Amino acid sequence: METIVIVGGGAGGLELATRLGDTLGSAKRARVVLVDRSHGHFWKPLLHTVASGKCDPQVVELAFPAQALEHDFEFVQGEVLCLDRAHQTITLAPRHGKGSDGACRTIAYDKLVLALGSVTNFYNVPGAAGHALTLDSVADAEAFRRRFNEACIKAGEQGTQVDVAIIGGGATGVELAAELSTSARALAAYKVHALDPDRDIRISVIERGQYLLPQLHPQQSQRAARHLRSLGIEVLTGTTVAEVTQDAVIDATGAVHRADLTLWAAGVEAPQLCATFGLQVNHLKQIVVDASLCSANDSQIYAFGDCASYTCPVKGAAPPRAQVAHQQAMFLAELLTRRNGTPRPHFRYHDYGSLVSLGPQSAVGVLTGAVTGKSVRVGGAVAGLLYRLMYQKHMLSLHGTLRVATQALADWLRARILPPVKLH
Ligand SMILES: Cc1cc2nc3c(=O)[nH]c(=O)nc-3n(C[C@H](O)[C@H](O)[C@H](O)COP(=O)(O)OP(=O)(O)OC[C@H]3O[C@@H](n4cnc5c(N)ncnc54)[C@H](O)[C@@H]3O)c2cc1C
Repeated sequence: METIVIVGGGAGGLELATRLGDTLGSAKRARVVLVDRSHGHFWKPLLHTVASGKCDPQVVELAFPAQALEHDFEFVQGEVLCLDRAHQTITLAPRHGKGSDGACRTIAYDKLVLALGSVTNFYNVPGAAGHALTLDSVADAEAFRRRFNEACIKAGEQGTQVDVAIIGGGATGVELAAELSTSARALAAYKVHALDPDRDIRISVIERGQYLLPQLHPQQSQRAARHLRSLGIEVLTGTTVAEVTQDAVIDATGAVHRADLTLWAAGVEAPQLCATFGLQVNHLKQIVVDASLCSANDSQIYAFGDCASYTCPVKGAAPPRAQVAHQQAMFLAELLTRRNGTPRPHFRYHDYGSLVSLGPQSAVGVLTGAVTGKSVRVGGAVAGLLYRLMYQKHMLSLHGTLRVATQALADWLRARILPPVKLH
């Protein structure tokens, strides 16, 4: 029986493992193995809600072993360290904790799918990697939340202010700024800190381009900027960051922006590991793949999602977004169930638009019709509802309708009985 190993159980990898388990795994047509360094899956687009304390990751996280049992695939927890293409094996770091013999583990594959995601790209800006926080993982988001709460409590005791600098006015930066401003008010209402959020908590979004959210129409970007300013957030566009220090961000004009916390959300690249496989990669270390998402120089290896560089003949380079990872997962689920030797289909990326959350009730974005290709700009509460449906769509592809409906009801009830933000 053929062994298909998928490395990375993120937005794309877990959807693929689930589909392949349901088709090949359950029919015993292939052994499907998912490898991830974490024990659970968390949908990355929600990380800003963890950083702001609105979402408890322990409640939302999906345990890989449970999904594996329900969908006929195997799960192996471990950090992939290297790949031996000649022997078709991957090597995993030793297990931690009791019972570990400290030895590396190897897993053999017939087909390997790499879905390793991305990491923050600091673009070699001095001090950025050392002083700025990031939102690459649940641990990063939790670390930001703790640092923000501690800074607010300390400033409240000392009668000072808290300055938060968010570098990057893309979706991550804008979503975090809006959510953080709401959470700061909730924390004040619960008296977790003694600050006046409007006067003592200063959040700024620093963006190099002329507009926030460059993927949207300038009118939408201006709408987002107006919304952030209405929440008291400072929006600095056309501002290039030249250096990050422990307590400040210095821009290219030499102006110093005081910052107790700096978050870097100005771009991503593939993990360094991708550049060590001997596969062709681009300047962002993304693995170059062909029209079937197969590595340009190894026909047994596929790569997709943020860690892959796929160029659509019509739309150009596919962006590092959950929408792309989802479509590519569905494509590979179909391709990998075909009998060996049948011609490989070509992936086509459809851009259905983009939605950016502006806090609990609002969003802004554009929706693009699948058939007509026409775009409609959306905003406000309707866009906010559509934004929340994006996550439900991801959950649907993992769990099916009944489970998602039950989960949505449970979430609704939880929101009615618990504080709107984590208080400690
Ligand atoms: C804060 C934030 C907000 C976002 N908002 C949006 C949005 O609104 N809309 C949108 O379309 N996209 C959004 N994105 C982008 C989206 O999250 C990514 O494009 C998507 O998650 C990519 O999916 P993936 O499967 O390629 O990788 P990921 O979802 O990142 O998964 C990668 C997986 O690989 C595992 N892994 C990595 N290295 C190793 C290793 N060495 N060994 C074992 N396992 C490993 C990780 O643990 C992880 O589970 C956002 C991203 C962030 C960070």
